[in-house]
Amino acid sequence: MSSRHQLCPKCKTPLVLTIESEYIGSERRITYKYRCNACNYKVVLERVILRKVNGYLRLEVVRRTETYH
Ligand SMILES: [Zn+2]
Repeated sequence: MSSRHQLCPKCKTPLVLTIESEYIGSERRITYKYRCNACNYKVVLERVILRKVNGYLRLEVVRRTETYH
């Protein structure tokens, strides 16, 4: 594993990188996020959206959208 630790800003627990893949209608979303198992803090690093438009596959990358709980 990487020696680069990301610590939770709330409780200093090492954050766990999780990758979520979900299908919403005809689009597919892949979300990379850091999650704290102790206090449920989440930071979204990057979100990739694959969408089919007129037979073409379109790729959208959304970076650094942060969510707090
Ligand atoms: Zn935490």
